Amino acid sequence: MVLAQLGGSISRALQQMSNATVIDEKVLNECLNEITRALLQADVQFKLVRDMQTNIKKIVNLEDLAAGHNKRKIIQQAVFNELCKMLDAGKPSFTPKKGKPSVVMFVGLQGSGKTTTCTKYAYYHQKKGWKPALVCADTFRAGAFDQLKQNATKAKIPFYGRYLEDIYLVLTYDFVERFKKENCDLIIVDTSGRHKQEAALFEEMRQVSEATKPDLVIFVMDSSIGQAAFDQAQAFKQSVAVGAVIVTKMDGHAKGGGALSAVAATKSPVIFIGTGEHMDEFEVFDVKPFVSRLLG
Ligand code: GDP
Repeated sequence: MVLAQLGGSISRALQQMSNATVIDEKVLNECLNEITRALLQADVQFKLVRDMQTNIKKIVNLEDLAAGHNKRKIIQQAVFNELCKMLDAGKPSFTPKKGKPSVVMFVGLQGSGKTTTCTKYAYYHQKKGWKPALVCADTFRAGAFDQLKQNATKAKIPFYGRYLEDIYLVLTYDFVERFKKENCDLIIVDTSGRHKQEAALFEEMRQVSEATKPDLVIFVMDSSIGQAAFDQAQAFKQSVAVGAVIVTKMDGHAKGGGALSAVAATKSPVIFIGTGEHMDEFEVFDVKPFVSRLLG
């Protein structure tokens, strides 16, 4: 995972700073420049990186720090905190409660791993004793229905979908309601990820949201999209009330910085990450352990 390289580069920059006999402005600047370079190489949005650098310099005011202070520790802690801040949306997402029906709608571009992630999310909760159900509201991609059905069948999760259908909104609504009556407590709605025009995709997403009244909208993003992450995440957030993010393909060659940008763009937390194609390659995402692991 290239994300490990990012962690390695930041750790090395901190180590070099630590090794310096005296921590002065020059040493601090060199360290921060190294970290900046590493973050930009990992596709973190420029503005986020610049803000981080400014914040650290504000916190670590070398002139004001008395001689007795452990400057190395203070700098290390400031870098750790700022990385956590980048990944912290400031508020937790809506959390469904077991036994109480919740509708969770998934949005994201085609190829992001949305359909796979819907099943992973359902399977994860099913193993913990929930009663999930999957509804396919993707009218555009012919294979979406088959794919979701195949995955759902494999995981023994109740499923509804039909091939292209004029009245799909009514059907989607009907099935969400039916699953609620059947005491399903996690009704997962998979939406379309592709249209000839972006405006049409967002309009369909809005209509599905209007029909199903989701308690939570999860934006699924491929971690390898790089610098495009911020704009893409923001475009989705502007069309529908994104409340959480799931970043997929963290097992691949993704540079990982996109995750940080998506949090900033949507002001929503990353709740899970996808780490492979299989149903159980799915992990809960926690900011602090993630950053600790990143920095090794
Ligand atoms: P959708 O078009 O957004 O619904 O995307 P799909 O769910 O069809 O996924 C697109 C491709 O990405 C498929 O080949 C999936 O197996 C793969 N995929 C999804 N999530 C992950 C992941 O976390 N890791 C890896 N390596 N592949 C993934």
